Amino acid sequence: MNTYFNPAKEQEKVVNISYVLYKLVKKDWVKLMSDKEQISQMEAKARERMKERGVEVSDIAELVFFLQKKYHPDLTMDECTLNVNRVLAKREVQNAILTGIELDVLAEQKKLSEPLQTMLEIDESLYGVDEVLAFSIVNIYGSIGFTNYGYIDKEKPGILGRLNDKSTGECHTFLDDIVGAISAAASSRLAHRARHTE
Ligand code: MG
Repeated sequence: MNTYFNPAKEQEKVVNISYVLYKLVKKDWVKLMSDKEQISQMEAKARERMKERGVEVSDIAELVFFLQKKYHPDLTMDECTLNVNRVLAKREVQNAILTGIELDVLAEQKKLSEPLQTMLEIDESLYGVDEVLAFSIVNIYGSIGFTNYGYIDKEKPGILGRLNDKSTGECHTFLDDIVGAISAAASSRLAHRARHTE
């Protein structure tokens, strides 16, 4: 009998080799991923986080419909949805979503330090950084986005009403402005496109 043969040791060797191979393959896979695929992963993550926080694309499309129906009598929800999807494909929008939601969640979990914790928790009106972050989205399709944003922020229809409901115990200090801004940007995009086709 071969006293040098130890089944447990042999098995361990196989496991180690498998692990090294796995690491190599995984590394190459990451390296081979194109820029486009990496960007779409960012978009997928931003969409996923919004969904986790209770915001669907259809909720934002409804806001676009609310903003644009009086200017475009034939407007459909499909057109609104398409414009929201195009806005969500923009990198600066994904950045704003990921940043804003992260801060909202940390505030909800009471993980921020003071005075930021309280300012976000009570949605302090003098804070204003939530709006500044939202402006990075509103900006994308030109200045008419600002008019739309101001209007929808004042009216707070649909999903914006729910996000602003302070009785839920949830914190959406950033997300409400981000959602309003996405709808404003999508409305601007829609308006620019309509002008070109009319
Ligand atoms: Mg806010």
